[in-house]
Amino acid sequence: MNDIEQLYQDSETFRDHLATVDKKGKRIWIYPKKPAGWFYKVRTYTSWLLLAILIGMPFIKINGEPFMLFNVLEGKFILFGIVFTPQDLHLFALAMVTLMVFIVLFTVVFGRLFCGWVCPQTIFMEMVFRKIEYWIEGDANQQRKLDKEPWTSDKIIKKGSKHIIFFLIAVLIANIFLTYIIGVDQVGKIISEPINMHVVGFAAMLIFSGLFYGVFAFMREQVCTTICPYGRMQGVLLVPDSIVVHYDFVRGEPRGKIKKTNPVSDIQQEVAQAALKSANGQDTIAESPIKILGDCIDCKLCVQVCPTGIDIRNGTQLECVNCTACIDACDGVMDKVSRPRGLIRYDSYNGIQKGKRHLLNTRVIAYSAVLVILIVFQAFLLGTRNSVETLVLKTPGQLYNVVDDIYYRNVYNWEVINKTAEDIQNIEFKLVGVPGSRLEVVGTKENIISPKQGLAKGVMMLDIPKTAMKTTKRKIKIEVYSNGKLIDEATTNFLGPIK
Ligand code: SF4
Ligand code: SF4
Repeated sequence: MNDIEQLYQDSETFRDHLATVDKKGKRIWIYPKKPAGWFYKVRTYTSWLLLAILIGMPFIKINGEPFMLFNVLEGKFILFGIVFTPQDLHLFALAMVTLMVFIVLFTVVFGRLFCGWVCPQTIFMEMVFRKIEYWIEGDANQQRKLDKEPWTSDKIIKKGSKHIIFFLIAVLIANIFLTYIIGVDQVGKIISEPINMHVVGFAAMLIFSGLFYGVFAFMREQVCTTICPYGRMQGVLLVPDSIVVHYDFVRGEPRGKIKKTNPVSDIQQEVAQAALKSANGQDTIAESPIKILGDCIDCKLCVQVCPTGIDIRNGTQLECVNCTACIDACDGVMDKVSRPRGLIRYDSYNGIQKGKRHLLNTRVIAYSAVLVILIVFQAFLLGTRNSVETLVLKTPGQLYNVVDDIYYRNVYNWEVINKTAEDIQNIEFKLVGVPGSRLEVVGTKENIISPKQGLAKGVMMLDIPKTAMKTTKRKIKIEVYSNGKLIDEATTNFLGPIK
């Protein structure tokens, strides 16, 4: 191994450990410097909009049903006003697969853009909790100093008020979270009615509040770097053409502090030669001595603002949530040293190394084709989906009965599933295509009702003339009516010996 290879091996050591864990395995607490700049400003406005949508969405109702609901307890899901009942599990699963493919495609093209701009974890952490922390405890250095100080009354007031506010916001987040699971009406009841009427709901609220408080007060970036599965997937999803937050190593290296004479150390020359050699894929440039420094003045501001504690100059790393704080920090530095902005910017590896950006590559085309097929298929299934679904199934353990000399009898369990937003009234069944047959709903009430987003069920008996049995298993059709209007039909089998 020659010196330059050794140098590169050494420079890859950041990949051997997490930036937030020391050699003894102890957590290194990150004190990111407060970001400032164009991206931070735009992200702040964007986060206000997204928070308003997140908080406001559970209050939006279509035909009395929430716009979005993920009621895993009752198996009821509503996506953009479309209700999915347990009978639509295949449609919901397909929608989830479609979403996954979309995320994969989006990541291949734009990397972790979602994490930095849309993910609720980043938005709450960086735009809510972190801002409160800066407001109460000051910027990174002041926070560091405060943590080292003994417990004076000032420190107790600052820490105490911060954690009280954190917990109250965590309670709010827990309530928002629950509105997506059990609906805003149910959450309203838990809040307004006596606790003993909603012990389970209240307990869930407390548990989630504690969970969110723990996440935002203590776990923080660990959620993104070690828990979130999306972060783990980056290694297989990103390609050299993916647009991510990137350090322009061609322009920035060799890095070094600005000095009057701009002296360059031997080691910097070696790094620069190797960087250019690797960038150009040939040896010729490496042979020419490089006597000037790149644009990176090694101020390390980009590292100081990073909420996950990494150095973006080491290249794309899975800890990077594309929060753009380092872009803003570096742009500010470039302004001060009168060099062009964008030393850290949204770009692809190929864009930086070769100056060529290709949004369309084989992976993107393949994923796009799969996504289009899935969307079309999903739209077809949704478009042809019945809003009423009837199931008529033979009652288990029953074959057939001989009623008399004329009839055989089969007993069935029936269900009428109502996916609409209104009750279905006066349900009736008619067996069609078998002259002389009889149908009786056991324990018939005056008015059979299938409630909205619910179901009606019961037992029915079918009598069919023995002479109608040409095979031992006859397919039959049952029509379902509501207020005299045909709303659905179901097919089933009738069993009986051939006469
Ligand atoms: S902020 Fe810019 S100039 Fe400063 S160390 Fe980072 S990349 Fe280099
Ligand atoms: S490297 Fe830059 S974009 Fe990535 S997490 Fe750190 S500050 Fe944010």
